[in-house]
Amino acid sequence: MLGLMQDWPLLIHKIIDHAGREHAHRPVISRSVEGEMHFTDYGTVRERALKVAKRLEKDGIRLGDRVATLAWNTWRHLETWYGITGIGAIYHTVNPRLFEDQIVYIMNHAEDRILLLDLTFVPLMEKLQDRLPTVERFVVLTDDAHMPETKLRNAVPYETWIGEVDSDFAWHSFDENTAAGMCYTSGTTGNPKGVLYSHRSNVIHAMTAALPDMLGVTSKDRVMPVVPLFHANGWSLAFSVPMTGASLVLPGPRLDGASVHEILETQKVTCTAAVPTVWLGLLAHLDKTGGTLTTLKRVVIGGSACPRAVTERFERQFGVEVLHAWGMTETSPLGTVCSITDDYAHLEGEALLDIKMKQGRTPFGVEMVIKDDADRLLPRDGKTFGRLKVRGPAISRAYFRGEGGNPLDAEGYFDTGDVATIDEFGYMQITDRAKDVIKSGGEWISSIDLENLAVGHPDVAEAAVIGVAHPKWDERPLLIIVPKAGKEPTKEDLLAFMQGKIAKWWMPDDVVLVPDLPHTATGKIQKMALRDRFKDYRLPTA
Ligand code: ADP
Repeated sequence: MLGLMQDWPLLIHKIIDHAGREHAHRPVISRSVEGEMHFTDYGTVRERALKVAKRLEKDGIRLGDRVATLAWNTWRHLETWYGITGIGAIYHTVNPRLFEDQIVYIMNHAEDRILLLDLTFVPLMEKLQDRLPTVERFVVLTDDAHMPETKLRNAVPYETWIGEVDSDFAWHSFDENTAAGMCYTSGTTGNPKGVLYSHRSNVIHAMTAALPDMLGVTSKDRVMPVVPLFHANGWSLAFSVPMTGASLVLPGPRLDGASVHEILETQKVTCTAAVPTVWLGLLAHLDKTGGTLTTLKRVVIGGSACPRAVTERFERQFGVEVLHAWGMTETSPLGTVCSITDDYAHLEGEALLDIKMKQGRTPFGVEMVIKDDADRLLPRDGKTFGRLKVRGPAISRAYFRGEGGNPLDAEGYFDTGDVATIDEFGYMQITDRAKDVIKSGGEWISSIDLENLAVGHPDVAEAAVIGVAHPKWDERPLLIIVPKAGKEPTKEDLLAFMQGKIAKWWMPDDVVLVPDLPHTATGKIQKMALRDRFKDYRLPTA
């Protein structure tokens, strides 16, 4: 027997319909790429998104076609996402931080038909367009007055393009499982792989992301996603924020400490989100200027582990609550948020900070486990670590065009590639990437723990730890250090610093100093390249 409730497919345009109707006058504020501040509201964003949809149809875009964006966070970028998905086409966010060859690869792999791009990226695309045969037209996200002289194919300024139609248009209706958005993983190994979100997955994910123990967004908030829409589905903020009716503040292209501080203060932002690098930049700026944060209440930090000092300073010095979050492109992306439940509410000081260093708990809709290499469940004791696996309605079951094969295990769990512990209250903590963990005599050593410890040494600028072959133990840790300018810490010095702070058998077998470390396009250390470089390294203990 079926229930007798209405059939109301979970389609993305229902979010902007709701915001445009129930929160029509609520502000959407952006720093434009042209430089000026721009003020609009949800009612107008919806009207203009309808024009985008109508205009795309006029250009022959149909259900399932890919429309790419290469753009900063602004009101125009937001409108395009709703316009594209409103006719069942698919937004494909291109990450400008990828290497040129990777951009060419993903756009051809996705077969993007139109690219909507910011002024910033016109020179890049002029250089690459001959290698992008599927792109029929380039729409520059600006108006006629700011449109540059360009050789881009069928180039047109966005305002002129949507100006050719009115907003008298009805969103299309289709199955809620229809593809809506596409985002490629940054591909630390091999080519980037396409993650394909559906309308249903984005809507469900947005609802859970906004829950009180997740981001806890309400219509009283002013939320600024500093995290770009092109990074991991923009952490879903383009959906979860309008859904709750909170105001949006969009920082455009300027993500340095001074610019972020200025817009936080002038636009009275209450909640914001970005990777640790952005917050290190903001804190350095506040140090230099003696500035404060007068309206900000919450900051969401994820994408890589949040340094303890960042959490400590936000909370103690500025009275801003830090929500440490974990996720990945394949998880839409929020998997966990570290909000403090009843179980830890009594903690204070360093003990509380210890918990805040964890990546946190899952919301409804994410089932999370840790398993060993033989796929056996591991205990939630906060100590045992294993492969972190997740399943749920907003988690990938495959990649676009089947790249990489089946990523699920026999029980339908997606292997995140991360290694983690889960404690008795459900708090997860990342201890490493599976491929970076050091396997010594059948036991695992966390490279991240050793690196975090090593960078605490006053002479160390950056540290990486990799496993190097060992005849008896299989692998042993090698510590690779980039010293601070003018410093030359010795091996004895560094090891003495680490002594007593970790288990004895975790101590690195050797230390080498290097001038720099290789990084990926998103700023993470390229462990693969390091392992390759040190594959014949002979440890003194071997
Ligand atoms: P990119 O490499 O482009 O950032 P993703 O955003 O998909 O791609 O990266 C996801 C990975 O980033 C996770 O699998 C995890 O290893 C790491 N990560 C994300 N958030 C955190 C966090 N809070 N702490 C530690 N690692 C994190």
